[in-house]
Amino acid sequence: MKVFLDRCSSYKKVEPVIKEGIDSLGGIKNFVKEGETLLVKPNLLRGDSPEKAINTHPDFIIAVVKILEEAGVNVIVVDSPGGPMKKTILKRMYRKAGWDRIEEETDAELNYDTSMYPIDFPPGNVIKSIDALGIIQDVDGVINLPKLKTHMFTVYTGAVKNMFGCVHGLTKSGYHGQYKGLDKFSKMLVDVNDAVNPRISIMDGIYGMEGQGPGSGGDLIKTNMVLASSDSTSLDAAACRSVGIPIKKVKTIKDLEDITYTKLTPGDFDTQINYPKGGSNPWYMPNFLTGFISNFFLKRPTLDKQKCIKCAKCREICPNDAITMKDYGPKISWWKCIRCYCCAEVCPVDALRKE
Ligand code: SF4
Ligand code: SF4
Repeated sequence: MKVFLDRCSSYKKVEPVIKEGIDSLGGIKNFVKEGETLLVKPNLLRGDSPEKAINTHPDFIIAVVKILEEAGVNVIVVDSPGGPMKKTILKRMYRKAGWDRIEEETDAELNYDTSMYPIDFPPGNVIKSIDALGIIQDVDGVINLPKLKTHMFTVYTGAVKNMFGCVHGLTKSGYHGQYKGLDKFSKMLVDVNDAVNPRISIMDGIYGMEGQGPGSGGDLIKTNMVLASSDSTSLDAAACRSVGIPIKKVKTIKDLEDITYTKLTPGDFDTQINYPKGGSNPWYMPNFLTGFISNFFLKRPTLDKQKCIKCAKCREICPNDAITMKDYGPKISWWKCIRCYCCAEVCPVDALRKE
């Protein structure tokens, strides 16, 4: 599979780099047709300013939207962030992430459709029907704009995992409870990516995240790269090689030997990012034993009481009802917690950490 990889140090210079990448993969006409309506799916974990590198940068999205619009495509920009799928929440998150600019500077629309649509996927390894965003049934295809980040649970999050945001609202945290354990959860992520089948993935790796990502627990790192490929797995393999994350630690990808690089190669980069150990718990364990067993291997998120603002977002997202709110903040049940770290992902003030 072909992967475009190039240096880019600034969002202000990104549009020609993305154009060159698309050209090197066969040109825009290889991916879109005039008159189509496409979903552009960046990463919007939650409403945070672009400078924090938690979400795909608005300048990056705008650059891609302009290229698509030049090719005669109608664009809807969409994500299902952590938490419930509500119009008021989406509006707030778009504004905080600086995504309002997308509607101001292009003809694209931000999605406010909160309906759900089941996608049947008989070839899925672990999931055969996905509770996806309703807007998917109204469009001709999906363009994937992931962000290069580390992840407390899956070690790395990029093109494959970004498609998990096509799953509807809190169903995402439900899938954490249903597909327990890193192996099974990763197989589900691959199924979702294959079911949605994005036409091309273009990764915002100008600023990435290292450490306890993908939310505010992670640390910003300048990685100065843009990647593109029609194959999400190949793109992720190239990204991991470029920043020194061992591919064997990322269960959604395998070490693909047949990648053809259309410009630079991972060997042209000497970036080494600090990546987390990741998490797992045995898939065959019933819920009441999961916490007991995994407690020997993995830590529950720990609470910084000084930082906690008692918003209860962590309890809302917990897939296993492991959190009860106390006067000091959340109390996490030792035996119910499945170590998915969804709570730490959505905490707005980084009060929950893995280590
Ligand atoms: S830990 Fe974070 S998400 Fe949970 S109540 Fe405190 S501030 Fe809110
Ligand atoms: S407490 Fe946090 S880490 Fe534990 S199951 Fe709930 S969301 Fe996941």
